[in-house]
Amino acid sequence: MSEIYTKVAQEKCIACGLCQIKAPAIFDYTEVGIAFNQLDQNQGSQTIPTNLTDEFKAAYLICPTHAILRASKPF
Ligand code: SF4
Repeated sequence: MSEIYTKVAQEKCIACGLCQIKAPAIFDYTEVGIAFNQLDQNQGSQTIPTNLTDEFKAAYLICPTHAILRASKPF
């Protein structure tokens, strides 16, 4: 499987909470509920560990505003 990098496009995030439910090891929230990738402070610079791939995909698919970005290279 190719590497996955992710970051949250925070201007699109509506603070719904779903990504943190699906992928608590990856996504966390600011004090106002906006999500970010806690693995690399939302820089999208660190590949997602393979043991977290399934939960990442669940979060990616459920985000209602498509705020979760993914790429095969660092952002
Ligand atoms: S699922 Fe999407 S809209 Fe909801 S908190 Fe996460 S990034 Fe924001």
